[in-house]
Amino acid sequence: MRVLVVEDEPRLRHNLAKILREEGYAVDEAADGDEGYFKAEAYDYSVIVLDVMLPIMDGWQLLEKLRQTKTTPVLMLTARDAFADRVKGLDSGADDYLVKPFDLAELLARIRAIIRRAAGQAQPVILLGDVCVDTRAREVRRGEEPVSLTAREYAIVEYLSLNEGKVVSRTELYDHLFDDTDDSMSNLLDVHIGNIRKKLGKTFISTRRGLGYCIKREALT
Ligand code: CA
Repeated sequence: MRVLVVEDEPRLRHNLAKILREEGYAVDEAADGDEGYFKAEAYDYSVIVLDVMLPIMDGWQLLEKLRQTKTTPVLMLTARDAFADRVKGLDSGADDYLVKPFDLAELLARIRAIIRRAAGQAQPVILLGDVCVDTRAREVRRGEEPVSLTAREYAIVEYLSLNEGKVVSRTELYDHLFDDTDDSMSNLLDVHIGNIRKKLGKTFISTRRGLGYCIKREALT
């Protein structure tokens, strides 16, 4: 899952990016509305965390421009605990909002919920044969046994699980799971997929040669 953080306050932006990366998200950062809009247009993010008060173009203007072309889920960060602000946010096509200062655990929970909703997955737990992907706890179990995955492996499993039944291209996986700061070898994805198969079974992820990867529920039960 790739997230864009648009926030002009450097320390808050870096902290948010750091915490999101620790949670296994790929994170891009933008320090003003103009840069934020440019990136939001250029990539298909899973979520955009958008501060309201920004230089050059504020959060509302960015959202309004973005909504002319894209439906990317947006979580607004508003400093003012004003009722009018919240109504404005939801009216302008924001998917959720948080009032500053906010609790980081709550921000992470809201981001997970937005990602689930965008994937049409209301339930936080996805069952795929004997594998259970808990997107709330960010844990994977096989049968009753918890399976230890790296953050990257988890991100791949979660992305494919949320897109269950669809063939996901390598490009889409790279776009959603790696960010501007990643300088990864192109064969790394194969290494991760290989490791996931060792842990969750050879048939858990199928390869469609030339097309990409796929998890199919029917194939697992
Ligand atoms: Ca700000």
